[in-house]
Amino acid sequence: MTTGPRRPGRDRPAGARRPAARSAQAPSQRARRADPARDAAYTVLRAVHDGAYANLELPGVLRRERLDARDASLATELCYGTLRMQGLYDAVIAVAADRPVTRIDAPVLDVLRLGCHQVLGMRVPDHAAVSATVALARHRVGAGPAGLVNAVLRRVVERSREDWVEAVTAGVEDPVAALALEHSHPAWVVRALRGALLGHVGDRDEVETELVQLLVAHNTPAELTLVARPGLVEDAELRAAGARPDPVAATAWTLPSGDPGALPAVREHRVAVQDAGSQLVALTLADVPVDGPERRWLDLCAGPGGKAGLLAALALRRGIALDANEVSPHRAALVEQALAPVVAAGGEVSVRVGDGRDLGEERPDSYDRVLVDAPCTGLGALRRRPEARWRRSPSDLATLGPLQRGLLAAALRTVRPGGVVAYATCSPHLAETELVVRDVLRGTPGVVLEDVRELVRDRRGEALPGTGPGPWAQLWPHRHGTDGMFLALLRRALEPAR
Ligand code: SAM
Repeated sequence: MTTGPRRPGRDRPAGARRPAARSAQAPSQRARRADPARDAAYTVLRAVHDGAYANLELPGVLRRERLDARDASLATELCYGTLRMQGLYDAVIAVAADRPVTRIDAPVLDVLRLGCHQVLGMRVPDHAAVSATVALARHRVGAGPAGLVNAVLRRVVERSREDWVEAVTAGVEDPVAALALEHSHPAWVVRALRGALLGHVGDRDEVETELVQLLVAHNTPAELTLVARPGLVEDAELRAAGARPDPVAATAWTLPSGDPGALPAVREHRVAVQDAGSQLVALTLADVPVDGPERRWLDLCAGPGGKAGLLAALALRRGIALDANEVSPHRAALVEQALAPVVAAGGEVSVRVGDGRDLGEERPDSYDRVLVDAPCTGLGALRRRPEARWRRSPSDLATLGPLQRGLLAAALRTVRPGGVVAYATCSPHLAETELVVRDVLRGTPGVVLEDVRELVRDRRGEALPGTGPGPWAQLWPHRHGTDGMFLALLRRALEPAR
């Protein structure tokens, strides 16, 4: 298809400021221009197409464009929803445009996806969705493509979402491929999630039901969860900010509305944005019984410092030191920021930049507790990273597998006899979870697996149900409302008395 290049001068230069919030513009002016929320969402989609992460890009665009709270929330839904549902929308667009989406210019395709989301995924009335999207197309990609956008969206509004799902999955024989289309996931991801659920659920019918629930959860915006780093913030300060205790973890709070970045406690790293499942990983490692006095803990892959921040606060209260290691200098700098309030409170922490696999040789038998929050595909955090499902591929597993095994093996060398290593991933993929633990255990004598299930405790201190048959624990977005964190605890046996 020939849509021509984007016209020069149509996009505002990066950093240019508006004189006032755009939603304050006169309606006559707005009708001729793209409206601010759609314009901002489109800007983010284009950046994501060029490799940006939506969750990092969006806040800057919202600030730069000075969107008011209503438009900011609309832009967020447009952007995240469109990215999540892109697989289904592309199938719909291909039918409505009567051509494969690979034959539609990428900027025009992004406009069409935004239009589809308003029509099929939101409650925007059809006429408003079409006219606003055509205005966006005229403003950002030109009059010619705007004509195509108009024609395609007029076909899209002719059917309901259910009818479109039926239309695009008719003739798809593989039930996994059909589910993948309906719920907008790559088929290999659906297959992997199904495999992981089979290990946890047992009953095959249950698995099919839970698989759909899981895919739906991935397409549902996650609540914003905060971690209250123990000893660094009072409950009253969180309540005053509008936060509510989250029943999943003792340190977790949800923030139903508002910008967490505006809270002083967040700016000072006493509180941080962190999924409750991630908090449970750190809390469980800190609470598993360990024989003898404790001196030092290690976080082997600490960047950007979410779990290290929680572990450091817990260690501070017990007079224990925390060493954090991270291979990326940029992410190590974020760990330092996360640890700053613990340092200010007199805690002993250090941040090392380097490959964690070297620490097995450099610091053997040195730590009481070690966390390996391994680099992984992130298939458990698809709710929060809307584009992640489209960026990953099965070949990532081939690269990550040896790294995950190497990091866990090194961690088991750094821990002292009687000490505990936590192996965690924000992925339920069996190749990154159980298989890694089993392989490393086979090659490491004198290490035993703890049964984690009784150790993962909710806010009331009770064992969290539904984490699987053990000995590890798997959290699920559709069961626990957390990211899909996996946790195994491996204890180095005490040396036999001589
Ligand atoms: N625990 C962190 C938190 O809660 O914020 C998240 C850790 S993230 C899942 C994995 C981290 O491992 C990434 O920051 C990545 O840069 C780091 N990493 C990757 N390869 C590594 C290696 N060989 N040694 C140490 N860190 C590594």
